[in-house]
Amino acid sequence: MATSNLALFKAKLFINNEYVDAKSPEKISVYNPADETLVTSEFPVAGPEDVDAAVDGARKAFKSGPWKDFTPSQRAACIMKLADLIEENGEELFKLETVAMGAPSYMAPFITKMSTEAWRYYAGWADKIPGQTFRSEGGKPFTFVTYEPIGVCAGIAPWNASLTTFAWKAGPALAAGNTVVFKSSEKAPLGLAAMGDLIKRAGFPPGVVQILSGPGSTGALLAQHMNVSKISFTGSVATGKKVQEMALKSNMKRVTLELGGKSPAIVFNDADIENAVKYCASGLLVNTGQACIASSRTLVQKDIAPKFIEALTTAFSQTQGLGPLADRSQFERVMSFIETGKKEASLATGGARVGDKGYYVAPTLFVDPGLDAKIYKEEIFGPVGTVRTFSTEEEVVELANDTLYGLSATVFTSSISRALRVAGKLESGTVGVNTSFMPSIEVPFGGWKESGLGRELGRDGLSAYLETKTVQINMQV
Ligand code: NAD
Repeated sequence: MATSNLALFKAKLFINNEYVDAKSPEKISVYNPADETLVTSEFPVAGPEDVDAAVDGARKAFKSGPWKDFTPSQRAACIMKLADLIEENGEELFKLETVAMGAPSYMAPFITKMSTEAWRYYAGWADKIPGQTFRSEGGKPFTFVTYEPIGVCAGIAPWNASLTTFAWKAGPALAAGNTVVFKSSEKAPLGLAAMGDLIKRAGFPPGVVQILSGPGSTGALLAQHMNVSKISFTGSVATGKKVQEMALKSNMKRVTLELGGKSPAIVFNDADIENAVKYCASGLLVNTGQACIASSRTLVQKDIAPKFIEALTTAFSQTQGLGPLADRSQFERVMSFIETGKKEASLATGGARVGDKGYYVAPTLFVDPGLDAKIYKEEIFGPVGTVRTFSTEEEVVELANDTLYGLSATVFTSSISRALRVAGKLESGTVGVNTSFMPSIEVPFGGWKESGLGRELGRDGLSAYLETKTVQINMQV
């Protein structure tokens, strides 16, 4: 089996601080997208009994285990230790990701940093969760407000960002004192399964963090579970809507959704063209276009369009080192968008598979798609971009907002007042000016409209794992 060179490989579920076999006989097969070879056909699928066992363990740990009596600084110490262990094992963990979903190796330090920074940031919050007080005046009761952990928090990861998704969800959940049941993506379950050992070594008591693998059916069991109090999901809009519906129909568990995007990059005629080209190319092609914030709709002002499109086409065609797409179905999906695109717009560069082994696709750029073109409207999640032109600021704001999504947007201009004016009008959770927006631990990240619900990162990301309690005390007795 191709797993012999993967030091941390573990095809098991992690429940109550032990690696266990799943009760369900179903298995997941994982193929290496770089060469289409089988990595493993033995990855466990957590079925109903396994999900129940994980949730029960997490519930016990929340209600009566030693975790419940940990001081905030003891919680912080476990989280800090986990960050250290992830850092120490960053390369090995990243190998487990790459072998399943093809992230290029230059992303390894970046992913380790994104994940460890988030763990450490939230460790810092564990003993800094204040409440509010209102003194008794005019006969009104003395009132105080506390922010308390919710209970068992479930997390569901997509395949493109397992390690960071885990940190962004479990970090604040644990800092706040919750317990966690986390499900990896069936396309990239290896990295998170390996985390079990590190969790134990970090000092978390049994049941505090459980790691499950399995397909959508496992995720659905979590979303419907009556003893899960909160679910945080990262993935596609279609699945996010199902998760929200299941959460509502079961116990109205709290929901955070981090979903897809079709993000605009707006290039005004006063922009630094070289800088705009650089970020319009890298802002789409990062992680081979498999990024939720990918700027997949470039909108350029008419008078600079010929020069800009020529430079962007060159940047796309000269980009090297892209990884493969995550798996065969993702590859077929992207190729089908490309074929449709050839009928909907003019192809500036790319448009084909690279080589005949592995799921590599050339950076592809389409110019002048119609407003209803599939390649212009739908999230492709691959290295396929579109460029349209515009004349006025009003027109481009309307074009940028004419989408069901609202995760990210970029504005290129040398006018600060124009940048602020346009940023203020964009229906988007994040905006980058003269740079691609990159999630950063201390600031909220998430989408407007169908790109999501709630926020991760920053203080908002912590609040998502706290319930509010308001207590009134009659001072007249
Ligand atoms: P996906 O929706 O297919 O799957 C995501 C996860 O949901 C997987 O773990 C899957 O097993 C699980 N799942 C599938 N069906 C389910 C169900 N019925 N109930 C519960 N869970 C279920 O998404 P994907 O293809 O893995 O990831 C790509 C998508 O994720 C893209 O749309 C991308 O934009 C989005 N994404 C968003 C962010 C963000 O922060 N906004 C980050 C990364 C990826």
